[in-house]
Amino acid sequence: MKITEVMAPEHETVVRVEEPSVGLTGFVAVHSTALGPAAGGLRMRPYADEAAALEDALRLSRGMSYKNAAADLPLGGGKSVILGDPARKSPEMLAAFGRAIDSLGGRYWTAEDMGMSPEDMAVVAGETAYVAGLPHGEYASGDPSPITARGIFSAIRITARHRFGSDDLTGRTVSLQGLGHVGVHLARMLHEAGARLVVADTDAARVTAAREAFGAEAVAPEAILAVEADILAPCAIGAILNEKTIPELRVAAVAGGANNQLATAADGARLHARGILYAPDFVANAGGIINVATEILRISDRAGYVDQKLAAVETTLDRILTRAAEADLSPNDIAEATVGERLVRPAA
Ligand code: NAD
Repeated sequence: MKITEVMAPEHETVVRVEEPSVGLTGFVAVHSTALGPAAGGLRMRPYADEAAALEDALRLSRGMSYKNAAADLPLGGGKSVILGDPARKSPEMLAAFGRAIDSLGGRYWTAEDMGMSPEDMAVVAGETAYVAGLPHGEYASGDPSPITARGIFSAIRITARHRFGSDDLTGRTVSLQGLGHVGVHLARMLHEAGARLVVADTDAARVTAAREAFGAEAVAPEAILAVEADILAPCAIGAILNEKTIPELRVAAVAGGANNQLATAADGARLHARGILYAPDFVANAGGIINVATEILRISDRAGYVDQKLAAVETTLDRILTRAAEADLSPNDIAEATVGERLVRPAA
C-alpha cells in the first residue's frame, strides 16, 4: 500500500492512500489535534476526481475541528474519504483503509459516514482500534440520533428565548424538514412541548406517521422552506440556506440539525440581514459527536457525560447569540470566531 503525504497548509496531516490490488484510492485529513485526537467519519462517494475527494476531506475535517471544539470535547477534527461507488466496496478495500488509519497511530479516529454501514465499520475495526460508532463492545455508543435531537431541541428553546423573549414553545409553529433518525425524535419533543408542527419529507410514509403521531400538518418537500412559521428546523440535507431560498423564508429563526445548512459563509450574513436568527448548525447538532466521544474517550458514565456536555453546549449557544446581538453580526460568524479561539494550541 502506498501512503503519501499531501501538502495542505491549513491542515496538520493529510495522506493519500492507494492500494490498486483492491481498487482503493482515498485520503485521510487531520485538520487539528490541538484539543485531542482528530475524530470524524469515513465517507465513500463516486467523486468526479481526486481533487474533489481531497477538497471534501479538507473541508469536512475542518468542520469537525469546529464541531468538536464547540462541544468542548477533547477531540480534534479529521475526516477520511474513499473514491468510488459504495456499491463497489469490498472487505479487502475496507481492511486496507483500516491499516492506513492504523498507521497514523491514533491521531485520527474514524466512524460511519455516508456510503458506510455498521458492518463496514466492523471490517475497518478488524485492522485498527481507532474506530468509533460500533454496534457492540464495552463502550459502544450506538445510535447518536436521540442525543442529537435532544441538543437541537435545547437549541430551539434557546433560540426562541433570544428571538421571542421566551423559550416556551406552547403554540409556536415549527416547520421541520426531514423526519429521519433525528427529525422524528425532534418532532416528538416539540409536540410534547406544545409546538405546532408543519413537516415535509421525501418519504411519504414518514410524513403519514408524523401526522398520526404528532398531529403534524404536512406540506410538499419543495414547499417546506416557504412555510410561514416561528422557527424552521432543517433536519435533512445541507446547503438549504442559500441565495435563492433565504429571500423566500417566512420564519423568525432557524435552528436544526442538518450539517452544513449554509451554502456559503455569506448566507449567514444574508439571514442576519433579513432579521432571521440562525443557531449555527455545528453548535446545535453537537449531541451526535458528544455521544460518539463517550466511545472514543471510554467514558463509563455515558449519561452523566452527555448531560454535562449538552449543558455546556447550551451555555455556548446562549453566549454566541448574546454576542451576535450585541455586535449586530451573524451568529455563524460569532460562532466561528468563538470556537476558532479554542482551536489555537496552547503554548507549550
Ligand atoms: P436520515 O437519513 O435518517 O434522515 C434524513 C431524512 O430527510 C430522511 O427521512 C429523508 O427522506 C429526508 N429528506 C431527504 N431529502 C429531503 C428533502 N429534500 N426534503 C425533505 N426531506 C428530505 O438522517 P439523520 O441521521 O436524521 O440526519 C439528518 C441530518 O442531520 C443530516 O444532515 C445529518 O448529517 C445531520 N446530523 C445527524 C446526526 C445524527 O446523530 N444522526 C448528527 C449530527 C448531524
